[in-house]
Amino acid sequence: MAHGNQKPRYSVDVLQMCPVCRAPYGEQAGRLLEANVGARFLHLTCATCSHMVLACVLETAAGKSSFGMLTDLSFDDAVRIRKKGPLQADEILALHDYLTKHHHIDL
Ligand SMILES: [Zn+2]
Repeated sequence: MAHGNQKPRYSVDVLQMCPVCRAPYGEQAGRLLEANVGARFLHLTCATCSHMVLACVLETAAGKSSFGMLTDLSFDDAVRIRKKGPLQADEILALHDYLTKHHHIDL
């Protein structure tokens, strides 16, 4: 039987290894996006397959937990979007106008 140290697929620690190729992250993989009391947000880039992950680390009295999601945002994109905040109604209308005028899409 193959027990060993293999973890089941659903328990990949997003801070320890790439969820796509399972290569361990090196020390240079993670960059801090934001740190609040009890929570840190990180951007991780896999040196092996280049997939990127946005991760959140929560630290409570009960212990530390983390979760993450795959993203196509670079670290700089993630910083820019965090600063910009939610989309405004006029930005959505401008996008609608652009798509209908330039791409002939019926929305
Ligand atoms: Zn990878």
